[in-house]
Amino acid sequence: MVDSMSDRPSNSKRYAHPHVRYTVADSLMRYAEFLGYGDIHTKIDEKTGLKAIVAIHNLKRGPAIGGCRMVAYQTIDKAMEDVLRLGYMMSYKAAINNLPHGGAKAVIIKPKVIKDREALFEKFGEFVQELGGRYITAVDSGTSPAEMDIIARRTSFVTCTTASGADSDPSPLTALGVRRAIEAAVKFKLGRDTLDGVHVAIQGAGHVGYYLAQELHALGAKLTMCDINQIALQRCVDEFGVKTCAIDEIYSIDADVFAPCALGAVLNMNTIKTLKAHIVAGSANNQLSHSHYGSLMHERGILYAPDFLINAGGLIHVAVLYGHGDIKKSLEQINNIYDTVYDIYERSSRENVATNQIAEMIARERLR
Ligand code: NAD
Repeated sequence: MVDSMSDRPSNSKRYAHPHVRYTVADSLMRYAEFLGYGDIHTKIDEKTGLKAIVAIHNLKRGPAIGGCRMVAYQTIDKAMEDVLRLGYMMSYKAAINNLPHGGAKAVIIKPKVIKDREALFEKFGEFVQELGGRYITAVDSGTSPAEMDIIARRTSFVTCTTASGADSDPSPLTALGVRRAIEAAVKFKLGRDTLDGVHVAIQGAGHVGYYLAQELHALGAKLTMCDINQIALQRCVDEFGVKTCAIDEIYSIDADVFAPCALGAVLNMNTIKTLKAHIVAGSANNQLSHSHYGSLMHERGILYAPDFLINAGGLIHVAVLYGHGDIKKSLEQINNIYDTVYDIYERSSRENVATNQIAEMIARERLR
């Protein structure tokens, strides 16, 4: 039984019993069990060099959906750990956003040399087809609509093909969801209907950070940003006139909102003590280094927008495309993040329970 999104281990070794010598396979199986899987399928094809894993977390709400990433993993264990962690997260994202899907993820272990890319992805398409519609595949890191087109020659359980009008980069849609959550928080916490003059400190000027800055700037927000990548940061300075700060100063900026858009586990005892913002809403996955920190923020009067709810813009889009909807329908559904998260802010205040706990509880109920 998983107690919380943030309690999930980053490493399956944590689930090894101290007095028993488990093999890596044992630990991974225990990790999968702990996360509440589901079925896990593997495919090895010598001819094309395909080594792939599909981890189907939950089918309660409908066929499981999630991207297929192709990454040069150092070991199979790393690939397995990644696919388990990500598939599980997809279930929670889908459930909290009321999508008619369970969560899943696929990884293709990138071969050192790809002899025939088309043959490789066709074989992956056959693998998806063998799963009989339990898993719907989509783009992720290392794949694009062009690969989805190849997969579509062998299966219909695929979305994000070029014909669907999908883009390889979901970041603008993710940023839209985060912006809507910020608007809802500003309304709830500060009683303001617009972001005009609201000060947002954004950690990370990468894909999502950039588009979020663009959205917020257009709405008149005042922005402070940091990034270890000076080129990415300078682009936001040039285009949106943002102020910048040092990496470790971002938490103590006297802003209304702190938007973590770089790394996971950035919300811990030290950073929360330092935070001046009364709202935390960003795209990063697993922002809380432990779920307790959601409660700590709640006690300190900091309104936290649950990450897995508000950063699901890309997944919502993929689900809409599979249902033959278009970008307009995706945008409508991503805009709904405002209402979903606002309800959670209200319930948190009414029941005096941290927002992350409420969101996780709702998702778990829907997955049961
Ligand atoms: P990205 O790699 O494009 O951007 C991350 C940025 O953070 C980079 O510019 C990097 O230099 C910067 N960074 C790294 N360490 C930093 C630090 N200590 N302080 C400040 N900046 C630092 O990634 P992204 O696609 O923009 O995603 C950002 C976060 O949102 C990630 O946690 C990702 O998992 C999550 N997320 C992204 C999407 C999406 O659509 N891209 C969807 C859901 C969740």
